[in-house]
Amino acid sequence: MAGWTFRYYGDPILREHSKPVEEITEEIKELAHFMIDYADNNNGIGLSAVQVGVPIRLFVLRDYVVLPDGKWTVSAPKVFINPKIVWKSKETETDHEGCMSFPGIQVGPIERPVKLRIEATDLDGNPFVEEREEINARVSFHENDHLNGVLHIDRVPPRARKKIEADLQAIKQKYN
Ligand SMILES: [Zn+2]
Repeated sequence: MAGWTFRYYGDPILREHSKPVEEITEEIKELAHFMIDYADNNNGIGLSAVQVGVPIRLFVLRDYVVLPDGKWTVSAPKVFINPKIVWKSKETETDHEGCMSFPGIQVGPIERPVKLRIEATDLDGNPFVEEREEINARVSFHENDHLNGVLHIDRVPPRARKKIEADLQAIKQKYN
């Protein structure tokens, strides 16, 4: 197969602007399943294709779901192809974010809209639209940023960024 390899901070591909998916080929389907497995095996909730070295507009995620007894679980995996954020709330909230390309660090504070509406195509080629909120909106904003070469570290205030600079350099050296 294509020999997909995971990409860490410092790899220039993470700064590329990903290209639209023209056709959902067998290879694209295999890639999506590879990404879902990779995220599951590495405690990830979301992953963009560029993070495994394929700069196309595709990401996978699972939703956080609260059960009636108050415990958390996650949904079945979802694949977003050529996603487009068509609406976001004016109301925002601030939190920290992890990213599989930045092992071991949480980055924040990052302000994001609380809700969004996103259009995309699924792996069978069917268009869909979703309203997502809170942590599930945050994950989609984060993954959508990856498709534009934007990383969560770009969205923290300069002072917070300074505090993690040594960690960032360490990741660069360790993984590249
Ligand atoms: Zn990420």
